[in-house]
Amino acid sequence: MTFAELGLSAKVLAAVEAAGYKSPTPIQAQAIPHVLARKDIVGIAQTGTGKTASFVLPMLSLLEKGRARARMPRTLILEPTRELAAQVEQNFAIYGQNHKLTVALLIGGVSFAEQDKKLDRGADVLIATPGRLLDHVERGKLLLTGVEILVIDEADRMLDMGFIPDIERICKLVPFTRQTLFFSATMPPEIEKLTGQFLHNPVHVQVARQATAAETVRQVLVSAPSFPKDKRAVLRGEIRRARNLTTAIIFCNRKRDVSVVYNSLKRHGFNAGALHGDLDQRERMATLAKFRAGEINLLVASDVAARGLDIPAVSHVFNYDVPTHAEDYVHRIGRTGRAGREGDAVTIVTPEDKRHLAAIEAMLGRPIPRRDTEPDDTALGAEDVAEDGDSRGRRASRNRKGAGRGRGAQHEGRSDRRGQEASTGAVESRKAPSQRSAARRPRADEEPDEPVVGLGGHVPDFLLRPVRKLNRED
Ligand code: AMP
Repeated sequence: MTFAELGLSAKVLAAVEAAGYKSPTPIQAQAIPHVLARKDIVGIAQTGTGKTASFVLPMLSLLEKGRARARMPRTLILEPTRELAAQVEQNFAIYGQNHKLTVALLIGGVSFAEQDKKLDRGADVLIATPGRLLDHVERGKLLLTGVEILVIDEADRMLDMGFIPDIERICKLVPFTRQTLFFSATMPPEIEKLTGQFLHNPVHVQVARQATAAETVRQVLVSAPSFPKDKRAVLRGEIRRARNLTTAIIFCNRKRDVSVVYNSLKRHGFNAGALHGDLDQRERMATLAKFRAGEINLLVASDVAARGLDIPAVSHVFNYDVPTHAEDYVHRIGRTGRAGREGDAVTIVTPEDKRHLAAIEAMLGRPIPRRDTEPDDTALGAEDVAEDGDSRGRRASRNRKGAGRGRGAQHEGRSDRRGQEASTGAVESRKAPSQRSAARRPRADEEPDEPVVGLGGHVPDFLLRPVRKLNRED
């Protein structure tokens, strides 16, 4: 199958050729002809499958007819996070290089004034996160009655982030006659219901989950003692000796360790950047841009900050920590070996990781091969020693704090989580009252600073009630 057989326009075909793609991926081959035929689509596919081009390419072909009007976008793409929205915008820049289309990005953390200007000029394509989009609608700056194509991307992540009420609202603001392209990696009942409610006779297309990464990526375990200083020496040794390393992501479980590992690598002369939920939007985008441009070649990241990001051609993934959730392991190693490329994933294992490693190997259905490692013996500067002392000191003081867990400790945990939400983009979520109580529990997209012990920050109310002494009469 070739791109030319899919019915795409000459301008789009030229851009695809310039991008160097030889043939469409399965989701592209299945979806593109239906999108061009103006059909609604339910696509079950993850990032990494070529899903973005499966809607961007036919949209570009369809947009060649007609013109944008002020404040009335012709197409609307909804994304759960700012990073994903910015990534889709980049796809329009690449594939739309032969088109003169106006693309507007409406995401939080950017001034309204700039976005208003773009809307006033008229947008052919509007890419938005749901919260910011509704803010513009409420301010009377945006009319959705001209939308011909609506794309809802990563619907299951929208569900995780509490965006479904917003999506329902937006679906009611766009014309009934629009074409809807709906993508999700999984189909939980809430998502199924949404498609039944807002799509018209959709065509279902599905590609296998990206479990294939587990097959194409060379995986290996190396042992390290538990001390952070020793783990960092093992990491440096692995980076220095890695074969054909072009770019790598180094995953840490805790955002605090992202900073520590990043600072340590910098001090040892590596070309590194850091990505975690506490960095503001501009810093994160700047770091990603540098990584994409090759100005930095090592990215130290937490799972939350890296989730869903398309970073092409990562040759290596290093798990500085064994992930505590087995699925995160598959997501992490899926960062390499993408779109048919080869990749290496090295996981550093300490004696404490036995249980989590067993869960990962059980999920993979086979053990991950182990090999010897050689820690980097670069002499440690005074700073590195101090850094280690610091983190141990902090840990000790945290343990002291945690010893008397009660209501106070719970509150501390909650406000901390709110802070993280604000910086991971989830701040744009508008939770329905019934969903708000669920926010007390750590969600899948939150970054823990500490491994969760026992009940973690959540202590059921009945355990906190004073115990009433029974007397004889009772
Ligand atoms: P996505 O699933 O949209 O996140 O895309 C994953 C990666 O695959 C991106 O880096 C794309 O540039 C790349 N890609 C998309 N379509 C193709 C194709 N037909 N052939 C090779 N690579 C592709």
